[in-house]
Amino acid sequence: MLVADYHNHPQAHRTDLPYSQKLLQAWADRARELGLKDLAFTDHDRYKAGFSFDEIELLQQNNQDIQFRAGIELDNDPETSADGRAWVEKNWDKLDFVLGSVHFVKDFAFDHPHYIDQYQKHDINDLYREYYTNIMAIASSGLVDSMAHLDLIKIFKFFPTENLDELYHDVLDLIKAKDISMEISTAGLRKPIGEIYPDKKLIQMAIDKDISFTIAGDAHAAHDLCHNYDKLEALLKEMDITEVAVYQKHQKILVPALVTPCAK
Ligand SMILES: [Zn+2]
Ligand SMILES: [Zn+2]
Repeated sequence: MLVADYHNHPQAHRTDLPYSQKLLQAWADRARELGLKDLAFTDHDRYKAGFSFDEIELLQQNNQDIQFRAGIELDNDPETSADGRAWVEKNWDKLDFVLGSVHFVKDFAFDHPHYIDQYQKHDINDLYREYYTNIMAIASSGLVDSMAHLDLIKIFKFFPTENLDELYHDVLDLIKAKDISMEISTAGLRKPIGEIYPDKKLIQMAIDKDISFTIAGDAHAAHDLCHNYDKLEALLKEMDITEVAVYQKHQKILVPALVTPCAK
């Protein structure tokens, strides 16, 4: 079993599920069932009203065999991200972990099926370039520990027609320079693209640049913790990734990717 899951949404994009012991204990129970040792809660910054450091602290006291990390997924939502950024700055010292992500290009939510027609209205290479420009803005903000689903823009299988390798190198060089991790996420397996984020080419480029990785399933319900982790484990083995990053108060700690039987 892989040791960590660093991208989870207990509030499941709802505003009527604020953090409580009832909500969070289900995640602890499921983590224990799976043998998961380290779990970061990372609801979107737009749902910060329902987030509670106190509830996570209480959960930690009641479940000392698992590490819980207070985290958030900070994105570039044109309506909410300024607030989100201010909240992360204000609460930086209390947060363990911040995921950086881009869900908007040209002010539309490109990963939402509702806006899929927008892909026909723009040049796909432009969309990719803008997407990665936005990624670089978040990565250089000084407010994130790991970049989530780095090639999310492939979600509906629209691919650039130009070679963007130079851009990918710039993005990864920046991530390395900022000492940020890159997430490897199984979320893409449940989307039209049907593969892990990011693709193997980007993962290999990151390995070559000595970038660290966080691992995640992007669960929106407790029973989806470690979703498709068998496939993730196989990929890590294939790419010879033996260590992953976990975070305590933004301090990166590299740990063996697999929980060994003697691990406590
Ligand atoms: Zn996301
Ligand atoms: Zn997410």
